[in-house]
Amino acid sequence: MGASRPNILFIMTDDHASHAMSCYGSRINQTPNLDRIANGGIRFDNCFCTNSICTPSRATILTGTYNHVNGVTTLDTPMDNTLLTFPKLLQEGGYQTAIFGKWHLGIGPAHCPTGFDDWAVLPGQGRYHNPEFIFKGPDGGTWQTVQGYATDIITDMSLDWLRARDSERPFCLLCHHKAPHRPWYSDEKHAAMYLNEEIAEPDTLYDTYENRASAAAAAEMRVGPHMDSTDLKCEVPKELPEMALRKWAYQRYIKDYLRVVASVDDNVGRLLDYLRDAGLEENTVVIYTSDQGFFLGDHGWYDKRFMYEESLRMPFVLRYPREVTPGSSNSDIVLNVDFAPLFLDLAGISIPESFQGRSFRQLLQGSAPADWREAMYYRYWMHKAHHNVYAHYGIRTRRHKLIYYYADALGQAGTIDETYEPEWELFDLLEDPRELRSVYHDPAYTGVRSRLTAELHRLQAEVGDIRYHKDKD
Ligand code: CA
Repeated sequence: MGASRPNILFIMTDDHASHAMSCYGSRINQTPNLDRIANGGIRFDNCFCTNSICTPSRATILTGTYNHVNGVTTLDTPMDNTLLTFPKLLQEGGYQTAIFGKWHLGIGPAHCPTGFDDWAVLPGQGRYHNPEFIFKGPDGGTWQTVQGYATDIITDMSLDWLRARDSERPFCLLCHHKAPHRPWYSDEKHAAMYLNEEIAEPDTLYDTYENRASAAAAAEMRVGPHMDSTDLKCEVPKELPEMALRKWAYQRYIKDYLRVVASVDDNVGRLLDYLRDAGLEENTVVIYTSDQGFFLGDHGWYDKRFMYEESLRMPFVLRYPREVTPGSSNSDIVLNVDFAPLFLDLAGISIPESFQGRSFRQLLQGSAPADWREAMYYRYWMHKAHHNVYAHYGIRTRRHKLIYYYADALGQAGTIDETYEPEWELFDLLEDPRELRSVYHDPAYTGVRSRLTAELHRLQAEVGDIRYHKDKD
C-alpha cells in the first residue's frame, strides 16, 4: 500500500510573484526549470492567498485554516506548534517528513517545526550569505552557521535528505526558500545577469494613486523613495524627482530580484533532475508556489500586503504524471487554505473537519465540482506596520473585487494604533484589470456593490471571522 502513495515535494519561495515566471507569461525573465513543472503538469491562474504576508500565509498553508482561527494574523504572532498541520497527519500516516529553509513561524520550543522527522530552518527571515540555521534538536533546536548561499544550501539539505531516506516509504519534503525576499542579494553566479539590459517596465510603474481609497497613496512601498541603500546596493539619489527616481530604482531593484529568482530556478532544476534520475517522477507530486505575490514595480511599488492582484495572486504549478495532463491550466479560484486538504487527499489521508480549505484534487484532473467557490475572502490585519498599509478585508469574485479598509489596529500584535475613517473600493476586473479606478461610488455599479457587500458578509460569517463594527449593511 505504501508504495502506491505518492511522494510530495513541496517547493515554496518567499515573495515570488507569478509575473516573474515564464510559464505565467513573464515579460521580464525566463524560468526554464519552473516551467518544467508547469509544462509537465498544471498551472493555476487564480490561486490566491487569504492574507498577503509571510508568516500568516505559511500558518494557513500548514494548518488549512484562516488566520483568525490559527491566531497567526501578523508577523508578530508566532504559530503555536501544537496546532494540527498536514505534515503531522502525513507523518502519522506513515510518511517521512522534513522541512528545510524558511519557517518564519517563530523560534523556541513552542514555535519550532513539529511534525517533521528532520528539519533545519532559518531563524526569522534568515540571511542570503552564510546563513545561520536552527537544526532539529532539544529545546527548540541547535543554532549553527552554514557557509554558502541560502538557496544552494537549502537545496543541498533537501537532496541529502532525499538520498538518505527510506525508499520503502513515501516522503513529504518541504523545500522552502528564503529567496526572493528582500533585500535581494544575488549569488556570484548570477550577479552579472541583466547588466547591460533594460528590463521592461510594468504598465502601472508611474501610478499616481487617483480614483482609489486613500490607502494606496498612503502606502510607503514605492520603488525608490521608500527604499534604502541595502535595497538598492548603493546610495539612493532621493534628490531626483519622484518619477525619475522610480524609473532609475526600478531597474536596480528588478534586476536584483530576477537574479535571485534565477538561482531559485537553477536549484529547482537540481531537485527535478534528482527525481528523474532516481526514477521518482511518476509517483511524486511536485508543487512550486510562493507564500504570496509581490509588486514588481506595479503601481510603483515593491512589497505585498494589499488585496490588489499582483500581491493577492500566488504562483501555483503542480506536476503529477499519474493524475495530471501535461501542459494543462485552470482558472478556478483556489486558495492557500486549500493546500493542506489537497496534500492529504493526494496521500489518501482523511481531511480533519477543522480544516477550512477544500481539496482541489478534482481540478487537477480537469473538472471542477459544481459547487466550487465563486468568491474568496481576504483579510490583512497588520495595520500601518512596516509600509503604512491600512488593515482591510474584502472579497474577490471572478470579475469583481470589493475592499473595505477598516483601518484599525484592533489591538493586533505588530500594528500601529492609529485609526482612520473606513473606506471602500470596488474594481471591475474585466473593465479595469490593473485596478486603477474604483467604481464603488459609480451609480452604474449600485447593484454589483450591494450584491458583493452581501456576499462579503456571508463569506466572512462562513469562515467565522468578525465584521468591523462600522461595517453595517
Ligand atoms: Ca513572503
